[in-house]
Amino acid sequence: MPSTMQALVLSEPNSMAIREVPIPVPGPNEVLARVRAVSICGTDAHLIRGDYPGFWPPSFPFIPGHEWAGEIAALGEGAERYGWKVGDRVAGTSHDACGVCQKCVEGHYNLCENFGRPGLHRQYGHNYQGADATYVIHGMKCIFRLPDKLSFAEGALIDPASIALHVANRGGVAAGDTVAIIGAGAIGLLSADASIARGAGRVILLERNAGRLAKAASLGFEVVDTSTDDPVATVRAMTGGLGADVALECAGVPAAVQWALGLLRRGGRCAAVGIPVVGVEIAMQRLVLDELELVGSRASAGEMRRVMPLVEQGRIRVGEMITHRFPLVEYERALATFNDPASGAIKIVVEP
Ligand SMILES: [Zn+2]
Ligand SMILES: [Zn+2]
Repeated sequence: MPSTMQALVLSEPNSMAIREVPIPVPGPNEVLARVRAVSICGTDAHLIRGDYPGFWPPSFPFIPGHEWAGEIAALGEGAERYGWKVGDRVAGTSHDACGVCQKCVEGHYNLCENFGRPGLHRQYGHNYQGADATYVIHGMKCIFRLPDKLSFAEGALIDPASIALHVANRGGVAAGDTVAIIGAGAIGLLSADASIARGAGRVILLERNAGRLAKAASLGFEVVDTSTDDPVATVRAMTGGLGADVALECAGVPAAVQWALGLLRRGGRCAAVGIPVVGVEIAMQRLVLDELELVGSRASAGEMRRVMPLVEQGRIRVGEMITHRFPLVEYERALATFNDPASGAIKIVVEP
């Protein structure tokens, strides 16, 4: 076992380098994993740009990365009691919550009331060192056995797949529902599959990027090009004037939230996973008089294990999302590709 590893180290916003750093030592109920694949998330791009100053990351130097898979390289004290052993293949997720507060006890660990408190809560790759490295430490609550059938690259997408299943769950998608999804990035496309897994009758994806529209259509979904067509009027026309039963907002811009509410059927429900950085004006009259529901959807809460068989059976098609692969040493090129709307990138997998 070497004593140092390669890691993507962020020294300040937009300033990063591949460095040789000490391999961390796993503490009680933690494992050290050899990272085999880590995928770039929209949150990584924001975090690296410095969009969450003082929060994600709380300080520098910092190693980002939170959507990963690999194999266990060493066990911290007590980890073996949970059945883990060196060599086990695992997929990771980021929320390592306290497990003790009321929200954690009730299963809503994504809403942990001790969020960010040192020693009580960690979010790997956000407020604690992440997986853009050859090794990473994770607590017991954040690793999940990766089925043999799934590759490490697919395993890296279990975390975003769990987030997609969570937003479909928060939307309350029921058998036969018409679901409209704003944004055909990875979360939008994966939540389209998650909606079908929950029994949706129709899934309509709204998007303006030509490459993503083509991707959504190639996966078998109905599409609306928001660069040429009015999103609300088009979805209403497609649904006999009634609107969609459920809207999933996966774009994170104010207009998308307004469209999502505007295209809902009376009594419809919108779950929002996109995070606009500014306030959004909401048509409260319609929300009240048509009894619309608007709920937030943060990360996942229990879906990591539940999404695994759906991915294994090809019902949530994570492999279809992977458009590019890079070695860790080419992270900056991978990130530039991710940030280029003309690149056709959906998910980029980096292999340390
Ligand atoms: Zn992510
Ligand atoms: Zn908690």
